Amino acid sequence: MPSPTKSTPDRPAQRRQRLLHELKQKNVPAMLVTDVVNVTYLTGFSGDSSYLLLGKGVCLLISDARYTVQIEEECPGIDALIRKPNESLLKAVQQGVKQAKCNQIGFEAGTITYQHWQHLEATLDKIEWIPCDGLVETLRQVKDATEIAEIRLAVEQAERGFALIIAGLTGEMTELQVAHDLEHAMRRFGAAGVAFDPIVAVGARAALPHARPQSQCIADAPFTLIDWGARTVSGYRSDLTRLVITGKIPPKLAKVYRVVLNAQLAGIEAIRPGVRGADIDRIARSIIEKAGFGRQFGHSLGHGVGLHIHEAPRLSSTSNDELEPGMIVTVEPGIYLPGWGGVRIEDDILVTRDGCEVLTSVTKEWDEIQPK
Ligand code: ZN
Ligand code: ZN
Repeated sequence: MPSPTKSTPDRPAQRRQRLLHELKQKNVPAMLVTDVVNVTYLTGFSGDSSYLLLGKGVCLLISDARYTVQIEEECPGIDALIRKPNESLLKAVQQGVKQAKCNQIGFEAGTITYQHWQHLEATLDKIEWIPCDGLVETLRQVKDATEIAEIRLAVEQAERGFALIIAGLTGEMTELQVAHDLEHAMRRFGAAGVAFDPIVAVGARAALPHARPQSQCIADAPFTLIDWGARTVSGYRSDLTRLVITGKIPPKLAKVYRVVLNAQLAGIEAIRPGVRGADIDRIARSIIEKAGFGRQFGHSLGHGVGLHIHEAPRLSSTSNDELEPGMIVTVEPGIYLPGWGGVRIEDDILVTRDGCEVLTSVTKEWDEIQPK
């Protein structure tokens, strides 16, 4: 006899409940969500050019006729206000706000365009607009089970793509070709695309933390830094960095690599609920500083990853973000020596109730990933 199937929880509905709770705490009766990623997070809607008006007794997705069917499919339980072809999005917002019947509305001050803001203020001048910056972003820091599964999938797509590329890597391939092939391989394994444009940096170019792929060949130096990630169909991302050894390992590289790896492992080891981002950054950074490379590690240790490639919480020297179970962060210390090269090692880490789980599994032992 088949066991009764559990109905899958409506995650977007749960997220909206959490936002409504936050709004109540702030005494804000409703909020206009304009950031496309936040709209997706709260509704499950994968389109764009749409705003969500959410409040007590109102949940209205303001969109256009291209998305009528898609909203029915993706957003059960959400009312859609479909604007007419000759009506602007802002005009439809005015209509939605009238339906909501409230005098105060929160808005996303950090992401709404100045032009849209000016228009809202001018046309809905009876409304008191309350800046609610970062409210949804704060909720997004802690991933629910569906999101964790999506990020695990993004990691898997990135790792399978990487394995395929490494297996076929040859000396005459350029940085651009490797970046292109990596994207293609991740898509072959089900990714909707890249999490960001991959960084493929041969030798001295690895000294640039955000090097753009160019025409250098893999054989031009004994190592190549690759920073890449996949984006799933639902929009969740992964973010990894590895150093690929393609020739005789210079002793200096071996030393620098060991320092970065020790710093990274110490940072990961320190991840657990209740620890602040600044504490993790300090633990990893102090290892690099003690080895004499403090000035060559010029960026923060890590960042949250989810629907955006960089999101809260931050692992930086000034971050008061406190880690909680369900957060997913990167740990990516680096040492960059201009004219010589650089090393960065990056993994994605899930904060668990009693510590953490490393979601990424590509080996960090370089002799195992030597290309042909
Ligand atoms: Zn990265
Ligand atoms: Zn990163």
